[in-house]
Amino acid sequence: MSTKRDYYEILGVSKNASAEEIKKAYRKVAIQFHPDKNPGNKEAEEKFKEAAEAYEVLSDNEKRSQYDRFGHQRPGAGGFRGHEMNMEDIFSQFGDIFGGGSPFDSFFGGGGGSRTRQRKGSNLRIKLKLSLEEIANGVEKKIKVNRLIRAEGVTFKNCSACGGTGQVRKVVNTMLGQMVSTSTCPTCNGAGQLIDKRPPGVDSSGLVSKEDVISVKIPAGVSEGMQLSMSGKGNEAPGGGIPGDLLILIEETEDKELKRNGNDLIYDLHISFVDAALGTTVEVPSIGGKARIKVEPGTQSGKILRLRGKGLKDVNGYGAGDQLIYINVWTPKKLTADEKARLETFRNSPNFKPHPDNTDKGFFDRMKEYFG
Ligand SMILES: [Zn+2]
Repeated sequence: MSTKRDYYEILGVSKNASAEEIKKAYRKVAIQFHPDKNPGNKEAEEKFKEAAEAYEVLSDNEKRSQYDRFGHQRPGAGGFRGHEMNMEDIFSQFGDIFGGGSPFDSFFGGGGGSRTRQRKGSNLRIKLKLSLEEIANGVEKKIKVNRLIRAEGVTFKNCSACGGTGQVRKVVNTMLGQMVSTSTCPTCNGAGQLIDKRPPGVDSSGLVSKEDVISVKIPAGVSEGMQLSMSGKGNEAPGGGIPGDLLILIEETEDKELKRNGNDLIYDLHISFVDAALGTTVEVPSIGGKARIKVEPGTQSGKILRLRGKGLKDVNGYGAGDQLIYINVWTPKKLTADEKARLETFRNSPNFKPHPDNTDKGFFDRMKEYFG
């Protein structure tokens, strides 16, 4: 296995390059390493493919932000479709890059031959609700989706507007002489074929809706609003071409006990002031079960205990968060006459007079310490 180069490095752009800069950079690299210019040069071909893959990801806002977050790690079973790109896919990108159907026809005097631009199916979007436990451990989910797939029993005929090539050529007279421009056939949208007969239930693009069950691997540590993409699991493309992507929007089910703050988990623990004064051990809920914690004698309300590494795994693999336990000392609201009388005896005891020292940090200091 080869180690993959950084996509930004491949195109020679900075991490915050604009879409326009990325397009420009790719155009340059693609022309430099285009197979028509480098016949039989394996290394150039690899560079050409590598650049196409980088562009495929960086030109797509969703894929780019995923790449920025996950790198080459590729969450979800499909991951970036880059590495499975073939030459046809790459040439299909050029329509967007060079603003025409087959740019290399004009760039390199027709050496590229006529290549039909492939169409891509539309993306499917679904929401996926996950419990804290599932987020903590990562999970494999089977998801039911209704995908558009190419229907059986559809017959096609050649598009008469383009003669089945999917492209129309126009000869334009310019100062420099006649120039041929090629563009996608508007009648068949580049497919070269039109539907002749279709069974009932099949739409005018020859697609039919079908329920499909897709298995999705969710990495540990994902969070609300994150979007994973599985390439090729969206709707199929009419007539031919590559299927769209399945986009999975993560939603979190709020946990009753553990609140999330980034990768940290927060638990509010209420203890009696007797336990706070005398000390105790308590069980608190934690990921994957219970954790036993010790409350030292003389614990102040507002103290935060930290269980290191007991939070959520970082989605990028940078370790794990902590579980924080906020101690709240609970003041009784109702007392019997006897309890009142006994507490009264402590009212003037010097030990019960508050005298905080500098280890008893106030609210603002604690906030600074934990969230600063
Ligand atoms: Zn056509």
